[in-house]
Amino acid sequence: MHEALVFRGVRAVDPSRDLGTDPRSAPVDVVVEGKVITRIGPHAGDAIVKASGGSGSARVRIIEGAGSLLLPGLIDLHAHVREPGQEYKEDLRSGLAAAAAGGFTDICAMPNTRPVNDTRAITEMLVYKARAIGGTRLHPIGAITVGQKGETLTEMADLKDAGAVAVSDDGYCVTRSDVMRRALEYASTFDMPLIQHAEDHALTVDAQMHEGAVSTRLGLRGWPRVAEDVIVARDVILAEYTRARYHLAHVSTLGAVRIIREAKSRGINVTAEVTPHHLLLTDAALLGYDTACKVNPPLREDADLLALREALADGTIDCIATDHAPHSPLEKDLELSAAAPGMIGLELCIPLMLGLVDKGVLSLARVVDALTRSPARIVGLPPPQLREGAEASLTLVDPIRSWTVSPERLRTKSKNTPFLGQTVRGMVMMTLVAGVIAFDVTADKADKT
Ligand SMILES: [Zn+2]
Repeated sequence: MHEALVFRGVRAVDPSRDLGTDPRSAPVDVVVEGKVITRIGPHAGDAIVKASGGSGSARVRIIEGAGSLLLPGLIDLHAHVREPGQEYKEDLRSGLAAAAAGGFTDICAMPNTRPVNDTRAITEMLVYKARAIGGTRLHPIGAITVGQKGETLTEMADLKDAGAVAVSDDGYCVTRSDVMRRALEYASTFDMPLIQHAEDHALTVDAQMHEGAVSTRLGLRGWPRVAEDVIVARDVILAEYTRARYHLAHVSTLGAVRIIREAKSRGINVTAEVTPHHLLLTDAALLGYDTACKVNPPLREDADLLALREALADGTIDCIATDHAPHSPLEKDLELSAAAPGMIGLELCIPLMLGLVDKGVLSLARVVDALTRSPARIVGLPPPQLREGAEASLTLVDPIRSWTVSPERLRTKSKNTPFLGQTVRGMVMMTLVAGVIAFDVTADKADKT
């Protein structure tokens, strides 16, 4: 292994330091020695490159950055890694490989596994196994209630002690107000955010997709916006009352955006995330009954998509989270009503979000912030930074290079995405976790697919 890595002539972007946010900013060199970034600046790598003979050595590796973006390591607050229990869809090894290939140095794993992660034992097992695998770091999220049944609170002190960074019953909503109140109070005792999957299940029985003109036309049972909105409204009231930290998972409606915006304006401690697919697709994608587009919450309408984009741009929505939800053909090659909801997301996040930057919907700085500092703050991880002395957790991205999304090039075990076959622009070239290379395709000369 090299003792030093030199990224030469990259556009280093770190909005937390106002670094590189202007597209005209001069390229810089970033030098990594051991676990740490030791130098950043124009020509900061000249001396070490020269000492290595100009083209690198056994000790020094030089990565020519021409046109590439160097970002602080990306963090995903919302991934389903399926271990334990459904390793045929994904396991820790494939999930962490997909995360590294997507540029993520850290991912948070949702607890709806089999069995549910509602105990110290499962949290410890995940932490232990993920460390043994190495590369991208895994941060378990424990369940709010035992078995995600919405009734009895878990031992959150144990979960936190074992390494859980948050609690969530994702997949299920904590619908009982008394349980939600106690859960907020209890989680805040341990300074853990409570992540809510906001869905009033009584309003979504047998729902296949968003309730609207398209569901009517297709004759499918709908999931109305209000099923999300009523829960978010109640939760905001409870968060204000308990002064707890409330985080809304995968916000999908314009109504929920409005409630979050109002809550923030009153200083209530609420945060929210949005998925790339809710920023890019609407219920019209279901017109061909494509089960890859069945997700929960469902794809909504143009008005929602525009509200979500605007809210992410202005900071009402804090961060981008993938809701990476691998499913095998057993769950997806079925009629729409029988198919499981969810799509994969880890390896598509960067190209899809850079696409929105290209379109002028979001600034690059906002996207980077929403994938780095903002999620770190929510779950209390150290914010990744591009500065001298910081831990070298970095993501190198070629924003120009295009590639075709195909099953062969995805590291995740499952291929359930409507973007299959599409050509996207923006390729993660390298992911570095605390100075260790977790993913590297910088030596690949050409896109083979
Ligand atoms: Zn969910």
